[in-house]
Amino acid sequence: MSFAMSKMCDLCGKGYQKGNLVPRGIGNRVTNRAIIKKKANLRSKRLNIDGTSIRAKLCSSCLKRLKFEQRKIDASKAAE
Ligand SMILES: [Zn+2]
Repeated sequence: MSFAMSKMCDLCGKGYQKGNLVPRGIGNRVTNRAIIKKKANLRSKRLNIDGTSIRAKLCSSCLKRLKFEQRKIDASKAAE
């Protein structure tokens, strides 16, 4: 998965976000226009899935979600 598009999240497939850069000059006039690509906030992380550790590139929102779900699992384990 990761070799096809390196700058993508392995979980949700988030990559570039396209946007318009419109700098303003004097009196709010447009002086230039450019298309900008915003990269996703990717982090490479070692994940332990069924005993085997793999390396995955994840975006920060996926990491946050994983952290939250792990906390939920830990809480349910502690309750038992
Ligand atoms: Zn993601």
